[in-house]
Amino acid sequence: MTKPCENVALYFYGELDEPAAAQFKRHLAGCARCQKELLFLQHTQQALVPPAAPQAVVEKVLAPAKKTLPGWRRVWRAALAGVLVLGLGIYYFAAGPHPTLADDGAELVAYISAEADADYQQFVSDFEVFEQQF
Ligand SMILES: [Zn+2]
Repeated sequence: MTKPCENVALYFYGELDEPAAAQFKRHLAGCARCQKELLFLQHTQQALVPPAAPQAVVEKVLAPAKKTLPGWRRVWRAALAGVLVLGLGIYYFAAGPHPTLADDGAELVAYISAEADADYQQFVSDFEVFEQQF
């Protein structure tokens, strides 16, 4: 069985059941050590609770957050943001870093020419063989 003085913290935090709390209360009335420790626990808890900010300070801090723009200004702001995003999108697709058609065309022509040349050489070679045989 625990000594009554060991229950002071449990009593302070309300962790004792009803009979144990009543028993400790009777002990507390005659125990200077437990009275002193209970007072210490109460003072410690009060010191740990931050003091509430004065109402004026709270209102001053929250005031900017409570300000809202008039309805038409909010709509215009959203519309302006939309137009800006749309404009940037159009600009990107119109003038973005795309390869130009001229570059693609030149590359394609060079590729076809090289292939056609090789095909032509093959054709000439085959034709010479054909001519020699007939
Ligand atoms: Zn005690």
